[in-house]
Amino acid sequence: MKPFALWLVLLLNLAYIVVGYPSVIELNDVSQSTTVTKRKSYAGYKLLRTEPLTTGNVPVFRNLEDVHGINYWTYPLENRSLDIFTSPKQLSRVQGVLKDLGLDHDVVFHDAEEIMHYEQPPQAKAKQLVWEDDAQNTAEPSDVSYQSENATGQDMPPTGTTRAVAPDFFNRYQRYNAIMNFASQLARENPSTVSFQSIGRSYEGKDMGILKIATGGSKPGIFIDGGMHAREWISPATVTYIMNKLVNDPKSKPLTDMFDWYIVPIVNVDGYEYTHTNDRYWRKTRSRSSNGCYGVDPNRNFGFHWAESGSSNKPCSDIYHGPKAFSEVETQNLGRTILYLKDKLKLYLTFHAYSQMWLVPWGFAKSQKPQDYNELVRLATVGKNALERTYGTRYSVGTAPDLLYPAAGGSDDWAKGAAGIPYSYCLELRDKGRYGFALPANQIKATGEETFNAVAAVAQELYRTLKKKEQPFTNADNESD
Ligand SMILES: [Zn+2]
Repeated sequence: MKPFALWLVLLLNLAYIVVGYPSVIELNDVSQSTTVTKRKSYAGYKLLRTEPLTTGNVPVFRNLEDVHGINYWTYPLENRSLDIFTSPKQLSRVQGVLKDLGLDHDVVFHDAEEIMHYEQPPQAKAKQLVWEDDAQNTAEPSDVSYQSENATGQDMPPTGTTRAVAPDFFNRYQRYNAIMNFASQLARENPSTVSFQSIGRSYEGKDMGILKIATGGSKPGIFIDGGMHAREWISPATVTYIMNKLVNDPKSKPLTDMFDWYIVPIVNVDGYEYTHTNDRYWRKTRSRSSNGCYGVDPNRNFGFHWAESGSSNKPCSDIYHGPKAFSEVETQNLGRTILYLKDKLKLYLTFHAYSQMWLVPWGFAKSQKPQDYNELVRLATVGKNALERTYGTRYSVGTAPDLLYPAAGGSDDWAKGAAGIPYSYCLELRDKGRYGFALPANQIKATGEETFNAVAAVAQELYRTLKKKEQPFTNADNESD
């Protein structure tokens, strides 16, 4: 490398250290966030679970989705039961089809609106969160700056005393702003080891925060994200729980001695807020496509075998892969950050829900496995065992095509195949369909605890594995597709 080029690289790195991660993506539009509409009611919506479908049934249900907009919480596949989420208006059509096909079904729940009361205890019954008032602090230059549309007062911190964790924080699903405040608080309380920065802004202009835990020295890194799919509330809750354990539990010291940790609690920040304010079961981002439909499935939008399977080219579909790979500013922000860190990252974990599965690459095609598939399964099994030992929650380990269905454009495939992170997994958290996306908030702590134990066991085993190698902290020996 010529001296000039070397200086340029050094200068750029210095710039990153001073101002944080590069943020070169322009926002498309911030005006939409001011629109306030009434929250969609799910009164009378039912979740039906069919008996396993036959080969002949599958196209009927896919057609029902495409033509009549019938919504599923699972995917129509042969030999698998199907979870159909139906409005009162569509119920007779769905029941008619089931009857014509001779398919039995159970009613998992009769009223989605009622289920939501179990999911989230009323705000009035939970104690008020106590946080240090942001306005009283001199924010670090690297802190996330909060967006004005969130200044509704509901989840903004009241003036008060500082506390590491408000006692009820993990008794409820928290809003975007509360989670950002929480992470910011962790950073303020641990300025020498924890930082909280923005990796860029969403389509609607919300900052996407990343928490970094680095206790010093050159270490390999672990990257964790949550909240890719808006309605999977247990994901940001679990990731926030893990963040708190890593920072505040003294027993986590070995984990932060071994690795630097990079944690993005909510990727799809716009969609996540939208599920709290407008539509509880929204899945996608909130970008607007040319035909007027909203959103792209961010976990079909990553640029590795993009759009090859398990996604849709229809902008109104829940699994719309977008007009091109990385069309979404949120996947761009995440992808750019991972690429910036890729040489030190050894493990990527992305959290989804539901079905209790530890998914191993590749997700894009049934017939293809990475060369080190057995090693990936070995480490995943260490995590699964630690998770199951905690409360007996059962998980399956395997590829998405083997356990669910092929789906291309997922972040876990991209993290391994394109970014070259050797170990990459997607976890489908609780439950197995009793509540589905509406998992009651009283399961947050248990889900957080068992999942943290899994992450801790995997990190420790990974560290041992890396130590055995001659050059433990380079990714040069990865194969990529
Ligand atoms: Zn998901």
